[in-house]
Amino acid sequence: MSAVSLPVLPHAPAAPKRSPVDPATLAYRELRRGPFWQRIPAYKDVTEAQFLDHNWQAKHTITKSSKLLEALQGLVSPAFIEDAELGFQKAPMSIRVSPYLLSLIDWEAPYEDPLRIQFIPVGSRLQPDHPKLDLDSLHEQADAPVPGLTHRYPDKALFLALDTCPVYCRFCTRSYAVGVDTDEVEKVSLKVSNERWARAFDYIRSRPELEDIVISGGDAYQLRAAQLEEIGEALLAIPQVRRMRFATKGPAVMPQKILTDDAWTDALTRIVEKGRKLHKEVVLHTHFNHPNEITGITEDAMNKLLERGITVRNQSVLQRGVNDSPEAMTMLVKRLGHVNVHPYYVYVHDLVTGVEDLRTSVDTAIFIEKHVRGSTAGFNTPLFVVDAPGGGGKRDVHSFEWYDRETGISVYQAPSVKPGQFFLYFDPLHQLSTSVQRRWADASEHEVMVQSAIAKAKERIR
Ligand SMILES: *Cc1c(COP(=O)(O)O)cnc(C)c1O
Ligand code: SF4
Repeated sequence: MSAVSLPVLPHAPAAPKRSPVDPATLAYRELRRGPFWQRIPAYKDVTEAQFLDHNWQAKHTITKSSKLLEALQGLVSPAFIEDAELGFQKAPMSIRVSPYLLSLIDWEAPYEDPLRIQFIPVGSRLQPDHPKLDLDSLHEQADAPVPGLTHRYPDKALFLALDTCPVYCRFCTRSYAVGVDTDEVEKVSLKVSNERWARAFDYIRSRPELEDIVISGGDAYQLRAAQLEEIGEALLAIPQVRRMRFATKGPAVMPQKILTDDAWTDALTRIVEKGRKLHKEVVLHTHFNHPNEITGITEDAMNKLLERGITVRNQSVLQRGVNDSPEAMTMLVKRLGHVNVHPYYVYVHDLVTGVEDLRTSVDTAIFIEKHVRGSTAGFNTPLFVVDAPGGGGKRDVHSFEWYDRETGISVYQAPSVKPGQFFLYFDPLHQLSTSVQRRWADASEHEVMVQSAIAKAKERIR
């Protein structure tokens, strides 16, 4: 090897300089700290020790819409209260809002607030459902060999341990009360049941291809420490199971639990450590959607998990008015990285009843992805996916066989999951032209548009 030495020129041009960083681009590092909750009249005397206590958070969590509206008196205008009342009437969802979550909402601008939009409906913003919305019935059930266990992909399965969450999100089918829900999975009882769990474990044991189990629900935060450990031990004991993820929204709505519920955090740590000794990976999957959901309290909680060697990954849902801009999504991704949470997926919003106002198009997802990619480490850059209605599973948004931006129909295939089938996603009508909206209003046009998209897809398939 010989070094190449360049002659030094007497008037060499100066090396191009990178201009100083714009401090605004580093704002993702500024996490909210201090007693921000004291701005809420009901919490003005709440101390930090109280606010960090997960029992205090749980005890003061609001679970009735009437109680929530009561708490908002004096914070928002009477017109907003009325609008929210209407929202609850039209979208009869279960409600669960922690004091922490309530304190993070900017009540001076509740209509625009990205957290309010996700958890508290307002009547004036609701949109009619897409006419194709009922398409996805039966598929989760068809992929469920035993109640609460979905085996859709070759080597992984989704175990729904229970049916409660530490918060109820507008955008989730599971936010509706069991029975009101149209999702077939929700019609089976998903209460904690040792017998049901045992059947799920038996099934997993009987399938040598199952290496990867997602434990969800509901939400792993709602499991008692002993239950968490029971599930962890049972799954770690199955030889072919190599990877496990406990899924929880908890860190986004109540990071206090990780800091002060020692029994729960220690149980999780023991399972992770036991897995590590067995050379199996046990991680936590969580669900932040907006940078405002990440505070100094979150940072402390995530630091604690990092110190214990617990990997945390994040899955977000793309929502209109919440995170559907390059700025909001980039900020979210960078802030997640800052607190050592790996952005894993961004989902295009599922076709869910009553939340059409929250959906965005496949086109929007592609546009935002383009801006996010390159802004940080590749391993911290989420994959944008659409969970294709009909059970095709998650597909990279870019991998459509055909996408008609006019009608908003995208056609996907899933050769490794359900070979030969077509899976269709429908963009929300409010993002389509008025002439196409008229076509969607005419039921006889639906098949024409769908068949045309499938025909185009067929032409392109290799
Ligand atoms: C999302 C999901 C999984 C896990 O999929 P990954 O792409 O590995 O995150 C497993 N089973 C079902 C039914 C799912 O919906
Ligand atoms: S926490 Fe998850 S499962 Fe529960 S309502 Fe929200 S999105 Fe649905």
